[in-house]
Amino acid sequence: MIVLMQNQELPKLDELYKEIILEHYREPCGKVPLEHVDYEAEGMNPLCGDEVKLSLQLKDKTIEKIHIEGHGCSISVASGSMLASILKGKSINEAKQLSLFLKDMMHGKVDKNEKDIGDLEALEGVKKFPVRIKCALLPWTTFEEALAGHEHVEIS
Ligand code: ZN
Repeated sequence: MIVLMQNQELPKLDELYKEIILEHYREPCGKVPLEHVDYEAEGMNPLCGDEVKLSLQLKDKTIEKIHIEGHGCSISVASGSMLASILKGKSINEAKQLSLFLKDMMHGKVDKNEKDIGDLEALEGVKKFPVRIKCALLPWTTFEEALAGHEHVEIS
């Protein structure tokens, strides 16, 4: 049993998913500063007040490290933490595909079970709350913005 009373901003999600989101919110991944920053971007979601700054360290076409800072609601922070954890070690193309999948999932175009997305499946319940979809996607749109200038990206 997990106490949620201090966290009234979290919409009504399944208990298991709430727990995953809150775990990421309390101890987010991606807090270790990078040795060098290859790409970075900042994003904000004025509807909720979420702000995120995301930095990437690449090695060849692989995402070696990700640093995320900022503040916001539990959903935006948890989503950023999941991003940092799941994209580490992924190729840029894999990462972009995952980002697209997540967007489609949040807009109800694909089912979470169509792909192995780890903790990210906890975010699917958020799609019932249109205002919060932007919270969940903010780190991912910021990630895509950071990569927008990457000349080696081949979008298939
Ligand atoms: Zn938010």
